[in-house]
Amino acid sequence: MTSPGTPQTPRSVSAQAPGKINISLGVGPQRADGYHGVASAYLAVSLYEEVTATITEGRGITVSLKDGADDGGNAGIPLDESNLAVQAAALLQGAAAQSTGVHLELTKRVPVAGGMGGGSADAAATLVACDALWGSGHSRDELARMAADLGADVPFALLGGAAVGLGVGDQLTPALCPGQLHWVLVPSASGLSTPRVYAELDTLRARAKKKVQEPKQVDPRVLQALRSGDAGALSDVLHNDLQPAALKLAPELTDILERGEGHGALAGMVSGSGPTVAFLAENEDRALEIAGCFDDEGFEAVPVYGPVHGARTLAGIRN
Ligand code: ATP
Repeated sequence: MTSPGTPQTPRSVSAQAPGKINISLGVGPQRADGYHGVASAYLAVSLYEEVTATITEGRGITVSLKDGADDGGNAGIPLDESNLAVQAAALLQGAAAQSTGVHLELTKRVPVAGGMGGGSADAAATLVACDALWGSGHSRDELARMAADLGADVPFALLGGAAVGLGVGDQLTPALCPGQLHWVLVPSASGLSTPRVYAELDTLRARAKKKVQEPKQVDPRVLQALRSGDAGALSDVLHNDLQPAALKLAPELTDILERGEGHGALAGMVSGSGPTVAFLAENEDRALEIAGCFDDEGFEAVPVYGPVHGARTLAGIRN
């Protein structure tokens, strides 16, 4: 709220951006630039990262985790310039006519190094929050270009919904998904490094002398199932080329996949590079039941739905 007589520049803006599931992920061979081409169907799900950007003196960019989680609760998140949120603010600061120093407070809800693009969601939420904080007025297309410079999954965290991603996942085309799909996420206590999972995939393929092509498209049956909102049809075509590599590096995920199917999930899959496992449920009630079964067995399980919106500011801009 603005008090009478104060300038209109907000002191603090909060934004949120969703985590993602890759419901279909085809991975090509490693390219000369070190990246792998992918053909992916992304779904944004109702687990949000939140970033509060607050003006500070000077030009510095600082970051902290909400609730003191930086003292060990969220191990592995860098709190320096290598943090993706800091990189996003720095990119925007360089392009903004009127920028200031900023402090970013992150509320982490997406499992860290979990294959759900949590760091990318922080970056997307930061772009949107700082754009509003500094009144930069960048168009969504301009923000999307900056997002692509920050990382392959950042453009989708900005866009949200459901989309096909080609290239390294950054060339996005929105996909129709008028219904809501219900999932149960089972995070793992320790993360998996994305580059390590890709490297393991290359090793497995080399050992099997398997020649792969650059993937050009997502299985049309996946897009058809999204369009019709048919969870049963989608469960038959969920696919993740990275899953064998993630299972090799984290064999305990096989047990989680079996448990979820035993609890009545339509299908389960490793999300992206893992180790989070995503189970597709027939409907919301079934998702709650499946989550309850995992809970009874002592596993954390989070029911979510998607598609949901991409990065956006939250109401209640504080002055
Ligand atoms: P990727 O997006 O690389 O596939 P992921 O989705 O599995 O990764 P993230 O939680 O996004 O997992 O983080 C991967 C790594 O990125 C972390 O282990 C951490 O070292 C680094 N990182 C940088 N910035 C952040 C951030 N804001 N939040 C979380 N991790 C970050």
